[in-house]
Amino acid sequence: MDKIFNKLQILGAAAKYDVACTSSGVDDSASKNNGGIGNKVSCGICHSFAADGRCISLLKVLMTNICIYDCKYCVNRKSNDVQRAIFTPEELAELTIQFYKRNYIEGLFLSSGVIKNPDYTCELIIKTLSLLRNVYRFNGYIHAKAIPGADEKLLNAIGLLADRMSVNIEMPSQDSLKLLAPDKSKNAIFKPMGFVAQNISQNTKELAVYKKVPKFVPAGQSTQMIIGASPETDNHILHLTENLYKKYKLKRVFFSAYTPVSNDSLLPSLDTKPPLLREHRLYQADWLMRFYNFKADEILDDESPNFNPFLDPKCNWAVKHPEFFPVEINKASYEELLRVPGIGVKSALRVIAARKHSHLDFAALKKLGVVLKRAQYFLVCKGRKTDGLVIKEDNILQSLMSKKEFNMYRNFYTPKQLEFFDTVKLLGDSSWQALPNAK
Ligand code: SF4
Repeated sequence: MDKIFNKLQILGAAAKYDVACTSSGVDDSASKNNGGIGNKVSCGICHSFAADGRCISLLKVLMTNICIYDCKYCVNRKSNDVQRAIFTPEELAELTIQFYKRNYIEGLFLSSGVIKNPDYTCELIIKTLSLLRNVYRFNGYIHAKAIPGADEKLLNAIGLLADRMSVNIEMPSQDSLKLLAPDKSKNAIFKPMGFVAQNISQNTKELAVYKKVPKFVPAGQSTQMIIGASPETDNHILHLTENLYKKYKLKRVFFSAYTPVSNDSLLPSLDTKPPLLREHRLYQADWLMRFYNFKADEILDDESPNFNPFLDPKCNWAVKHPEFFPVEINKASYEELLRVPGIGVKSALRVIAARKHSHLDFAALKKLGVVLKRAQYFLVCKGRKTDGLVIKEDNILQSLMSKKEFNMYRNFYTPKQLEFFDTVKLLGDSSWQALPNAK
């Protein structure tokens, strides 16, 4: 048991850099699966957070940290002198099931270094998942990595055993990939991604017609890219993200702030802090694209290629588009309501439902969950703004920023008289470098 525990320590720690670990998107239960054990729920099973803030909800582990590749940004690269370990499929399946039975976990997130070659690595993963599904009758959530370069038959086999698959894109551009992961290529990554997307689409059609078709990756596929190890702008990353959603129908794109693990002249120095605020802004923008009908072009462009460090992307858009406001709460469409700072998906739906019965005023909006502190500057009720509201730059910015952000903003820029909507132009793209990495 000590031997397995040692392996778990090494391979659990080696997996922590992979952030693609949420489990949303699938709903299933043991009762629906003719016995067996384990349930999947459609949102966030067993989430918890490591000291560095990353989600470690599932048993998140590598099959092995032995790797034939030498990606410069990776702690498991072959040239790195670290302790290596490998689970046998039997050990890992048994460990997962024991953890499950003790209620420590509800699922497995399985990735791996590339041992011998991609096919061999996939075979180990398949054997592990087969044991879990077919011998232990485990119906819980499994997220498995597709290893680029592996035979499509093997990828297909993983897809029939796992709920979610992911192929990590790693670097946001081909140039950076060439430089930092010379053993990988853009095609080797996009090919399996395309294969999984195509199979998911085919499977969805078959499931609509036939009852007994086995499910292929029912929770969809995701990917992860590392932020801050290479020089791409936020604009580049966001447009790439949008294209990935469109072309490969990904469920999620995860962003991982680069944590320096290597003293290499091509990478940020070892004392560079992970760009967590940047990662956070990317997640906010990703959310806007997935749930608020924003396009990447509306959030960033060539003129403003990086996020505003002081304002979240939605508020940043709002202060840059005064022509869009104020929005009349009693007439605006759902899409227009979603553009108002302080109105989210739920409150927009509530507003639409409530105004069918009577005209809404500010008191009613408050009851419906609208954050008036923010929203009042951007909307009117029956043509009227809040009584006594003073629309001044500082008031608006204070309503949109936390106190800490506002103080940082004021300390960062020498106070001077500004027109409110000049504020965003003032926030230059180099602002990131001067800011602490605070969320
Ligand atoms: S292939 Fe994966 S595990 Fe191997 S060095 Fe590259 S990123 Fe690390």
